[in-house]
Amino acid sequence: MKPARTRMAPSPTGRFHLGSARTALFDFLLARKTGGQFILRLEDTDQKRFVEGSEEEIMRSLDWLGITPDESPIHGGRFGPYRQTERRELYQSHAKALVEKGHAYPCFCTPERLEQSRKDQEARKVDRVRYDGLCRALDPSDAAKRVASGEKYVIRFKMPHEGSTTAHDHLRGDIVTENKYLDDNVILKSDGLPTYHLAAMVDDHEMEITHVMRGSEWLSTFPLHVNIVRAFGWEEPVWIHLSLFLKPSGKGKMSKRDNADVMKDGRTVFVDDMKDLGYTSEGVLNWIALMGWGVAEDDVMSLDDMIQRFSIDTLTPSPAAINFQRLDHFNGTHIRLLTTEDLSARIKPYFVAAGLPVEDEALLKITPLIRERLVTLDDCLTFASFFFKDAVSPTPDDLIAKGLDAKQSAEIARKCFEIVSALPDLSHQTAEPPMRAYVESAGLNANQVFGILRVAVTGQKVSPPLFESMEIIGREKVLARLQDAITILENLSVSP
Ligand code: GLU
Repeated sequence: MKPARTRMAPSPTGRFHLGSARTALFDFLLARKTGGQFILRLEDTDQKRFVEGSEEEIMRSLDWLGITPDESPIHGGRFGPYRQTERRELYQSHAKALVEKGHAYPCFCTPERLEQSRKDQEARKVDRVRYDGLCRALDPSDAAKRVASGEKYVIRFKMPHEGSTTAHDHLRGDIVTENKYLDDNVILKSDGLPTYHLAAMVDDHEMEITHVMRGSEWLSTFPLHVNIVRAFGWEEPVWIHLSLFLKPSGKGKMSKRDNADVMKDGRTVFVDDMKDLGYTSEGVLNWIALMGWGVAEDDVMSLDDMIQRFSIDTLTPSPAAINFQRLDHFNGTHIRLLTTEDLSARIKPYFVAAGLPVEDEALLKITPLIRERLVTLDDCLTFASFFFKDAVSPTPDDLIAKGLDAKQSAEIARKCFEIVSALPDLSHQTAEPPMRAYVESAGLNANQVFGILRVAVTGQKVSPPLFESMEIIGREKVLARLQDAITILENLSVSP
């Protein structure tokens, strides 16, 4: 396959969400697979909807995911500029060329007239409301004179009225639309800026884009787009309208607005938030790759694996419901694939942010002990904060072993203290046998003794392996924590 040039063309009008991330991923994969380029173009012509900071968020999210574009407003490239507002003359000259070729015309209708025409058509219950063609019928030289005299106008594309338009989508096959249903859409606005329909077609051509992957919301204007490309006499790219994302319930399309609902459950559809929630870029990429790509549902893939395996022939058009449990699954799986050094470096910031004095050497020993339990990176705080705290504060009742009272539990804690004090060192190999011997000789069961010891030393009922943990915490702190536990238990035994 010849090198593909793919592009993602977001409008900087909001936050960068999963849908955009998936488009970017597939664009990136196809470009890498074929030795081509992945381009980021900013479609910023709708200035009323411009949102400050969204361009930066797009860049930050792509970098974090590891799918940085080859050409973009930041990275440059020989097809720039990559911001549409910096290319406005190009669209104006192309709109003019279409008018000269008879494929487009200036329209002088006022918003009031258009509104009235719409109402009239609705009253007549027409099949499809569209522009009534008043200016389409103008004599081109009269229209040119009105333009020259400074009258306000837009440019509309002249859709064929007869016959039908066949547009080919790589995933969906031929889509045939009767032209009588098509509208003369505006391609250049009265402020001289293009609409998406013109700007995207011109740029895809000028930037030598070979494959257009975009959201399926563009299917309705797809016939317009192919007609524009054909009117210019250009070669069409391969068109791919990706599958829709459905809400987690599977009912209805997921929109940015629905994010408020998923946020209530600590979830998000915005890539920039996922990092803070403890997700890894590997987990997120694997998860979104499987939404709309027909590989096995639980295929665990790195970005390199995806590049090897990617093919547009295996993409599927069927909608996919967003399933956050699968995100957790992939995230945990990718966490377990990280090297200890890598995982340590990724969890360290969470301890730092929690104000804990984390030490690299200890963290390298702790990481393998908690790795299996992590679903998100911030889970490290649940499982390992106790290592770095000065003291832990167990719930007093948790210190009382099952079947025993506070007094008996205090006695066990005192015995544990004695054993630990007497050990030549606190390596788990040294500490475990005398503890087990004590359990045996005292006729207790291991759960009772190790339960008290665990809660005393870690402050919690569930922890990484106990003796390995004690080794890392060190004798001094272990003894201090045991002493605190003894005090708590003694207070419990004297209270009525
Ligand atoms: N600016 C369009 C959007 O954000 C781009 C669609 C496309 O990829 O062509 O939806």
